[in-house]
Amino acid sequence: MIRDPDMSPREKTLTEFIIEEQRKAQGATGGFTALLNDICLACKRISYLVGKGVLADSPGGAGSGNAQGGTQTKLNLRANGIFLRTNEWGGHLAAMVSEELEQPYGIPSPYPRGRYLLVFDPLDGSSNLDVNVSVGSIFSVLRCVDGVDEPTAADFLQPGAQQVCAGYAIYGASTMLVLTLGRGVHGFTLDREIGEFILTHASLRIPDDTSEFAINASNARFWEPAVRRYVDECLAGKTGPRDKDFNMRWIASLVAETHRILLRGGVVMYPRDSRNPASPGRLRLLYEVNPIGFIIEQAGGRASTGFTPVLAVKPDHLHQRIGFMFGSRREVERLEQYHRDSNQREYDAPLFGVRGLFREPA
Ligand code: MN
Ligand code: MN
Repeated sequence: MIRDPDMSPREKTLTEFIIEEQRKAQGATGGFTALLNDICLACKRISYLVGKGVLADSPGGAGSGNAQGGTQTKLNLRANGIFLRTNEWGGHLAAMVSEELEQPYGIPSPYPRGRYLLVFDPLDGSSNLDVNVSVGSIFSVLRCVDGVDEPTAADFLQPGAQQVCAGYAIYGASTMLVLTLGRGVHGFTLDREIGEFILTHASLRIPDDTSEFAINASNARFWEPAVRRYVDECLAGKTGPRDKDFNMRWIASLVAETHRILLRGGVVMYPRDSRNPASPGRLRLLYEVNPIGFIIEQAGGRASTGFTPVLAVKPDHLHQRIGFMFGSRREVERLEQYHRDSNQREYDAPLFGVRGLFREPA
């Protein structure tokens, strides 16, 4: 039978997907749809900017090593500006919080204020820009408490479980947007010719088991016992208690690590360590850990501090850092078990206690 190509199922755009999701929600107005459209537009604009590389800086700006670092900083600020300008006018937001801003950004007059709060990391993994490795943007939408007209920092300090929606854009060989509205996780690929995100990865699910782990091993001497034990056992491979070999990955870009986990499984660790007790962990709770945690859990994975599910943590301040480990459910549960078991004391695994590759000599 000859098929008419125009009769095959239409590709679904992100806008169409959001509107359909909106129709399923009770009492929904179109406001949220419009907000998401603006967020996606910001990501398209940043995708375009990042795609220019050092050419984005200035004509002839592809100069010395110094200019490279300058490009990175400038791109962070430009991406931040794009997020603010693209989202401030629509009337759906009361305020925004960005990695690049010390304080919340209130919606300026004459724009109307709305019921939602937007938090974002406009350019994640930006140290990768110099070497042309994937970067991304991360965002999360919260509800503004009723009756609050001028939100302060305190209004943003909501546990991740209260997120209305979260997502990230990844600017790689192709640009993708990955989104959860609390009903699964869906991936969209940017069709550059028509300028639309197309649904290409519906209902992403993270495999329960994995044999890939990712951690910055140069910090091994600061790790807590539970993390040492987990990594030592992975490294021991077939000859160790796990009885299988593992692969290691490390991109040093949260968005890129997350994307790999969603598509292939695995576990990523940014653990708290012993360097600075006042600032445990490297990643920021509000605009990195919470949105990624929401996505991971919605895809059937697990997102943890090692001690508690990240989405249950009540933030103390806007730019709070926290330990974060996430990915395939059973691996993260194992990590949590190790934290419960042995984090109070040095673990005493006779096989690896002395010989572990990442162990400091006693
Ligand atoms: Mn970041
Ligand atoms: Mn950033």
